[in-house]
Amino acid sequence: DYGMSEADPEVWKIISKEKERQFKSLELIASENFTSRAVMEAVGSCLTNKYSEGLPGKRYYGGNEYIDELEMLCQERALEAFHLDGKMWGVNVQPLSGSPANFEVYTAILNPHDRIMGLDLPHGGHLSHGFMTPKRRVSGTSIYFESMPYRLDESTGLVDYNMLEKTANLFRPKLIIAGASAYPRDFDYLRMRKIADSVGSFLMMDMAHISGLVAASVVADPFEYCDIVTTTTHKSLRGPRGGMIFFKKDPVLGVDLESAINNAVFPGLQGGPHNHTIGGLTVCLKHAQSPEFKAYQNKVVSNCRALANRLIGLGYKLVSGGSDNHLVLVDLRPMGIDGARVEKILDLASITLNKNSVPGDKSALVPGGIRIGSPAMTTRGFTEKEFVATADFIHEGVQIALEAKELVSGSKLQDFIKFVTSPSFSLRDQVLD
Ligand code: PLP
Repeated sequence: DYGMSEADPEVWKIISKEKERQFKSLELIASENFTSRAVMEAVGSCLTNKYSEGLPGKRYYGGNEYIDELEMLCQERALEAFHLDGKMWGVNVQPLSGSPANFEVYTAILNPHDRIMGLDLPHGGHLSHGFMTPKRRVSGTSIYFESMPYRLDESTGLVDYNMLEKTANLFRPKLIIAGASAYPRDFDYLRMRKIADSVGSFLMMDMAHISGLVAASVVADPFEYCDIVTTTTHKSLRGPRGGMIFFKKDPVLGVDLESAINNAVFPGLQGGPHNHTIGGLTVCLKHAQSPEFKAYQNKVVSNCRALANRLIGLGYKLVSGGSDNHLVLVDLRPMGIDGARVEKILDLASITLNKNSVPGDKSALVPGGIRIGSPAMTTRGFTEKEFVATADFIHEGVQIALEAKELVSGSKLQDFIKFVTSPSFSLRDQVLD
């Protein structure tokens, strides 16, 4: 056996370049993180070679004694990491990622065309919560189920629970989904539980973004009020790319969630589990129970707050006015610029974040905001001081984007990108400084 640099220099070179990019840039994408060497070792291990369709002790292939041991350890650690009693909660650790985990839940507890309500994507929700436009059912969730999103109150930037309640009373959903990809505040699970109960609906939380914060108890606990909790494993939780589904063991609305969800994962929607991912996840879930992990998650939140406060001090408008978690959503429209142009300029300066729609936006391609997250750079050792400096860098990028926008001929985003990436862009040196 020999190393990749000899076996495939082309791929090795690409990976080396990506490694350097990750090392050199300020990684501020709220859904990303740097996992540990130990997790990567498990992900790159012989576990990838093994087929193990089924669950521990009930496999469709031989040779699974160690895989069974691993998956059971993973389940045990998952319940421990989220402070759950194994008599009341179960978990499936096989979902390949967050979107499949969500779809598995839907197919487990709903019939085709049953009604669901999730947070609208332009208001911070995720595609897999049922996104559709007036013209198109964009996500598989909205194709196979009837989706009626709830939204934020645009004046406060907070979930409009009154509107959710009113709409739920008319629409009578069978499932209400809490959770978001770009929401800087906690959800009011108790309020959502009451709404779900009043219409006879299941309540699910997709805690993908905040699962690390939940494990460390630095945000509200969704398990207190929800029937089902899904998550990705690679965001604030800092594990390998994967997904998990937690479910109540007692039947809910007459449905045995344990068998419905396990069957939806396999054979419903998946074949063999990715055992190398389960290996990495098991390692991650051990980390997630350590005092260092709790200290890290506390820093994720305090760093984010420092970033938010500095941005407010610099005159920026934040959706909801601040942040209780790991991300801020900046509304750039009052500054006279959009998220796409700022994202591009910051990209040129090796500051990686993403453009994001903000309440009231017209276009998803050229949205009015940016989303900034603290988990990845906190892993890299940033403290509040560096996050304050980061806010200043972002501010500089916004000034350059504004200047460039004045200079560019043509109003399309493409004109802007062509201009700022051309060697003649006179502010280029400033960006690269
Ligand atoms: N759920 C939420 C809230 C997310 O933010 C994301 C991804 O960003 C997902 C689900 C989907 O996860 P994946 O990209 O692993 O399918």
